[in-house]
Amino acid sequence: MSSTKNDFKDPGFVFGLGVGAIVGIALGLFVLSALGILDASTGAGPTVPATDLPLTAPPQPERTGTGPDPMSATSPTPTTSPTLTPDPTVTPTPMPLEGEAFSIGKSVQGRDLKVVRFGSGPIVRMIIGAIHGGYEWNTAALVQRLVDELRAGILTVPPDITLYLLPDFNPDGSRNYPGSIYGRSNANRVDLNRNWDSHWQADWPRSGCFNYAPLTAGEAPFSEPETQALSKFLLDNHVDALISYHSQMGAIFATGSSPLHPAADDLARRLSVVSGYLYPPPETGCLYTGQLVDWAVDHDIVALTIELTTHESLDLEINHKVFNAFLAWKRPAEPGGEGE
Ligand SMILES: [Zn+2]
Repeated sequence: MSSTKNDFKDPGFVFGLGVGAIVGIALGLFVLSALGILDASTGAGPTVPATDLPLTAPPQPERTGTGPDPMSATSPTPTTSPTLTPDPTVTPTPMPLEGEAFSIGKSVQGRDLKVVRFGSGPIVRMIIGAIHGGYEWNTAALVQRLVDELRAGILTVPPDITLYLLPDFNPDGSRNYPGSIYGRSNANRVDLNRNWDSHWQADWPRSGCFNYAPLTAGEAPFSEPETQALSKFLLDNHVDALISYHSQMGAIFATGSSPLHPAADDLARRLSVVSGYLYPPPETGCLYTGQLVDWAVDHDIVALTIELTTHESLDLEINHKVFNAFLAWKRPAEPGGEGE
């Protein structure tokens, strides 16, 4: 019996010790967490922003344009560190850093529309790739190549020019359907070159006219976030002239349905001479609706569609000549203005 009593006693004692230990550990944990040590060691705090950061931080240096940028605290901009209070004289139009990509808006699927600036002259020009993605991927590759060569100093921008380059205007089409006709449209199946507010139509005669995949012109002009962002950027920045690259006709189009703009006609002739691309272009018999170049000339922005010769080639030597001639070109004086 006594032995059984002892047997009873010992486990009770051990149990007591166990409870004491558990209470002690719980108290210890409570104290540690109250001191904030445990929270830090779980990592719940730091890892969330750390994984979020690369998604949201990189391509955002300016464009929001409304005073101090909340992201600037985490970005390595050396110039804005000394004062905490923003100087009101700095706010009007912050210029994006030369050679650094910044976002002018998002695609349907949330991809950034990344633009890069070079030069700071009074005349603003723009070069746009991949309004049709997918099988016209070489237009994005060409404009990105021009960006790389500008960064490397292989190409330069004249002192009177500010140049913006948008290598991939349709990143959803480019990423979702690389090399494919399905990448012609954005993620809403909208042809971004039929969604501008100029001669827009919900439908158009399609037979023989680039009708490779299911496409629409959008619910209405500017129904798409991509065309909304770029039209705003072109107007806000007073862009004087632009090139929109396509493939594969080896030709230059100065207009789609709008009346031929005399200055666009002049620029197209000049670029045809240096490039060998056909101008006037071959007659396709297609009805052009809702096009970027038509909307642009409606707003007195000289605009050309340039078609590379194939869906693969960058036509790099040719487009070095186009690049230099485009930036050297000056708008002819208006017929009613000072003499020519
Ligand atoms: Zn195209």
